Amino acid sequence: MSTARLKINLDALVINWRNLDAKTGCETAAVVKANGYGLDAGRVGKALAQAGARNFFVAVAEEGIVLRRALGPGPGISVFSGHMEGDAKLLRDFQLTPMLNSIDQMLRHFEALPGHPFGVQLDSGMNRLGMEAAEWAAVCEIALQQNPVLLMSHLACADEPGHGMNAYQLQNFIKMTEGFNVPRSLSATGGLLLGRDYHFDLCRPGIGLYGGAPYDAALPVIELEVPVIQTRDLAPGESVGYGNTWIAKRDTRIATIAAGYADGLQRAFQRQGIMAYADNTPCPVVGRISMDLITVDVTDLPEVPSHLSLINERQTVDALAAAAGTIGYEVLTNLGARYARTYTA
Ligand SMILES: *Cc1c(COP(=O)(O)O)cnc(C)c1O
Repeated sequence: MSTARLKINLDALVINWRNLDAKTGCETAAVVKANGYGLDAGRVGKALAQAGARNFFVAVAEEGIVLRRALGPGPGISVFSGHMEGDAKLLRDFQLTPMLNSIDQMLRHFEALPGHPFGVQLDSGMNRLGMEAAEWAAVCEIALQQNPVLLMSHLACADEPGHGMNAYQLQNFIKMTEGFNVPRSLSATGGLLLGRDYHFDLCRPGIGLYGGAPYDAALPVIELEVPVIQTRDLAPGESVGYGNTWIAKRDTRIATIAAGYADGLQRAFQRQGIMAYADNTPCPVVGRISMDLITVDVTDLPEVPSHLSLINERQTVDALAAAAGTIGYEVLTNLGARYARTYTA
């Protein structure tokens, strides 16, 4: 079999959730949007629900359907994008709680689903999603009469603890929500790590659960092992891969492994060079990453193993992201559909 193996460690995921939860005195929910950051929202959600998570967040209503089917009735599922045209039936049939982002969404919700639970998303400065202060002031009395289950906002710079934006948004959020006696939530992973002032009644980490920065103490959740399809020996001066970008300077043994940019292993990883690991021995990836194949200099290995590892404790998702000038979130959510995925729990 030449399919790469993506191992997803749900135990590590649960430990990350527990450890983040232990940093707070409030409820810790879980964000499982984008199919659980690419790792399967249903499996991730079930593992976390078993560990005690009671509330989950997705980006759009359709993601909530998949999650509800996996979780069954009971756990709360909230939708960041709120109540869009055509969502009413989904929200009702699958017991999803929209986070209303505008007066339009609020009117739509009250008209289409009176009495159906909702929260309100407020914009405290990020200018992305949620009602702004003036909008909120205009409707907050009406909204509060309908008993929102949550008032939430989102931080723009929480991964930079020293950034002045954090305190600024915190103050704005307090101003918009103080004294209403409705549960509040401001923080994702980054905000949770900023400390108690940012926790309110519920934190909603995503990336930290999956082992990514800014939660530096996270346990890694995924490993990727890619089969070696072929090895060949090169003389000095011979080139490897598209564009002849790499030339052998010595007698070289090249292993060709079965994964590429179609699997989310971006060509840009090669901007700073990445490694493929034979157990703990790093071997440089050389030449261009192609759609389905990656070439590795294994000259210094006494023996070429059946698989080389591209994601592991030594080369994390964040390390790959840094090599390509991006963030771990993007690497995770780009992992392709072609892997043989195994889940350990
Ligand atoms: C994605 C998202 C989260 C989770 O963020 P992480 O940085 O992955 O912890 C929380 N809240 C909102 C509104 C989001 O969009």
